[in-house]
Amino acid sequence: MSDSLPNGAASQPLAHHIGGVRVAGDGARSAPLFNPATGQQSGTVSLANAATVDHAVAAAQTAFPAWSDTPPLKRARILNRFRQIVEARSAELARAITLEHGKTFDDALGEVARGIEVVEFACGAPHLLKGQFTDQIGGGIDNWSMRQPLGVVAGITPFNFPAMVPMWMFPIALACGNTFVLKPSERDPSAAVLLADWFAEAGLPAGVFNVVHGDKTAVDALLAHPDVQALSFVGSTPVAEYIYREGTRRGKRVQALGGAKNHLIAMPDASPVQVADALMGAAFGSAGERCMAISVAVAVGSMSDVLVEELQKRIGTLRVGSGLDDGIEMGPLVTSAHRDKVTGYIARGIEEGARLVVDGRQHAICKQDGYFVGATLFDHVTPDMTIYREEIFGPVLAIVRVPDFASAVDLVNAHEFANGVALYTSDGGTARAFARSIKAGMVGINVPLPVPMAWHSFGGWKRSLFGDHHAYGEEGIRFYTRYKSVMQRWPGSIARGAEFTMPVAS
Ligand code: NAD
Repeated sequence: MSDSLPNGAASQPLAHHIGGVRVAGDGARSAPLFNPATGQQSGTVSLANAATVDHAVAAAQTAFPAWSDTPPLKRARILNRFRQIVEARSAELARAITLEHGKTFDDALGEVARGIEVVEFACGAPHLLKGQFTDQIGGGIDNWSMRQPLGVVAGITPFNFPAMVPMWMFPIALACGNTFVLKPSERDPSAAVLLADWFAEAGLPAGVFNVVHGDKTAVDALLAHPDVQALSFVGSTPVAEYIYREGTRRGKRVQALGGAKNHLIAMPDASPVQVADALMGAAFGSAGERCMAISVAVAVGSMSDVLVEELQKRIGTLRVGSGLDDGIEMGPLVTSAHRDKVTGYIARGIEEGARLVVDGRQHAICKQDGYFVGATLFDHVTPDMTIYREEIFGPVLAIVRVPDFASAVDLVNAHEFANGVALYTSDGGTARAFARSIKAGMVGINVPLPVPMAWHSFGGWKRSLFGDHHAYGEEGIRFYTRYKSVMQRWPGSIARGAEFTMPVAS
């Protein structure tokens, strides 16, 4: 496969998408884009200033009255046409993702498929927005509820899922009748522009979906804009906290999903072969750059030695290389800065006394250009170590040894992050106790990456999520709508005279 980008980014800065068309940046600021597998610059992306953000929000504000008045079924039909286009061009989108993010082509296809599932869910908008009705709450009086859109809403998304995470947000926001401004990651922004092009092709009215590229300047302009009613954010915890604080301080509705440190507890009654297979994909898939990646294996009792041995064998045969090449299982990290951060954590782990079983920095591929780090395994990691406490977001797996199930649960529950967690066991009682007592938002039992389906909802607990709603599914519908209760009667049922007591059902 050729490694040029499909959207002309190499020749001119990647444009914004405002009012249904691509809009060139003002030329003042741009950022370079790189192919992580080669380290070569592949293009540049415009970085918006406050005026460009104003332009996008104004386009969305202008489109809002007609779009929110459009019957939900008609909105859903446009989403369905969009879904057909994305599905038909999944390979083009996946290729653009691999060229900027570095993940393997098949993994990128998987990300696109999970995004499409949210569009499919959002196509059920007429049903999802249906209110509830109570006939005759009192003499001649009925009460019903409806959910109404908020207005212009914004999404700010991370580099690690440049198509899927935006698709957790905008299909639902649009289905509910809102208009949307997306600020994708400036490290891999091409997927967002392709999606915006395809929305226009699907017949989405101009201004309903807009993309502005940028960094903190654009995000701050969205936070400060009086016409932005709500913000969905996904990214690192410090930025999530900032967005939540600054957005809610201005009276906006905010959901801000942050970082993670996901554990997999391996009980002695689990199959070490199954646990090691699960850990290979969950820790090293997408080079560990997943918010649901497992970065800590908690080996209980006799599971410890055998698990280390099984993992070591598998890491030796892991195929690392360019994500567009056949048979590759793990690609590079996203940028050279991120690679350096990950190798810095490996050095820190050694300094702090963890046992380095496999050193990914020594992998042969690290001699090539590109931002590669091989799969890395640490054993005898303890909770006070930096590599246990902090999110590394790279292909580094830490093994913590504990004596029993209770210590494993206590360990997980004491961590500041609480996104996903998994347990491997063959005992139903242990599994049930785990599901009930573990403090995390997404729980897997013999499932390493329990990413909820589109009709459930995604989100962590503690410092992995700031806000009251999880993303997509019914929680997404609630986040993107306001609830209204209506009570009605007609003149024939109104008794004469003023009533001064609290009305009660009679
Ligand atoms: P990031 O926080 O650096 O960036 C996320 C977004 O915020 C980007 O659009 C970026 O431009 C913007 N941004 C960055 N710094 C900012 C600042 N100082 N002020 C305002 N905006 C800023 O995250 P990332 O490196 O792109 O993504 C990786 C992180 O995202 C990891 O921590 C990962 O766990 C997290 N993540 C979480 C989930 C989840 O569902 N909880 C999902 C995916 C990724």
